[in-house]
Amino acid sequence: MTSPSSAPAAAAPATGSVPAAELAGVWRTYPGPPPVTALAGVTLSIAPAEFVAITGPSGSGKTTLGHILAGLEVPTSGTVRIGGTDVALLNDGQLAGLRATQIGVIFQRFYLDASLTALGNVAMGLLYQGITVHRRLDRARETLQRVGLGHRLGHRPAELSGGEQQRVAIARAIISQPRLLVADEPTGNLDSASGQLITRLLLDLNHDGTAVVLITHDQRLADAAARQIGLRDGRITPGPEAGTP
Ligand code: ADP
Ligand code: MG
Repeated sequence: MTSPSSAPAAAAPATGSVPAAELAGVWRTYPGPPPVTALAGVTLSIAPAEFVAITGPSGSGKTTLGHILAGLEVPTSGTVRIGGTDVALLNDGQLAGLRATQIGVIFQRFYLDASLTALGNVAMGLLYQGITVHRRLDRARETLQRVGLGHRLGHRPAELSGGEQQRVAIARAIISQPRLLVADEPTGNLDSASGQLITRLLLDLNHDGTAVVLITHDQRLADAAARQIGLRDGRITPGPEAGTP
């Protein structure tokens, strides 16, 4: 893999045993007024190539947790390691480099660029990696084929169904071959057939070695995951671990 010039200096070796992400005693308070404590002491570890569902009612802190796992937000206190690197030790450029190479994110709303084709949107996922335009487009084509959209390369978002748009967003998120894909309610805007297709795609990616964190309030979706973590009022709820009878 090509390493960007902004690669984190403090990066730990990318061995197979380093957790994809680790949170220790993470609090996140939004200043308000009034202040809102979205996360209240969360400790968890996402193993390499694990598939974890994070569930909980609206307002329980799921999106905040996803943002922190993805390095999009920093905690008020506590430690966050992404691929073994303590994000608090990175400057903004280094954190951006870590995100660009190790993390993919998809959201309920797809956040595609309406002016770009599917190919152009996916190629954006490699923009900060110092790769030539030609190579970016080649990789974008390959990645769109991988998500089953090889026949929609030149379509703009408005010309695609919701499920197709989410597949474009997934392709953009995984083109850099991240260790971790964070998906925040990825099927929330989709009909159930398209939603099932997206869930199956996430399972396939996981099978190929990407750790996946699937954030959802839909218990049926969460049941696709090998492990479930429940959140309530910003805390992990005690519950049976997967595998216990
Ligand atoms: P969920 O995704 O489970 O619905 P969120 O992480 O979005 O939960 O929100 C957790 C709590 O934090 C909620 O009470 C929400 O209103 C609050 N919150 C989220 N983002 C912000 C923000 N930017 N500013 C203030 N409060 C916020
Ligand atoms: Mg949310």
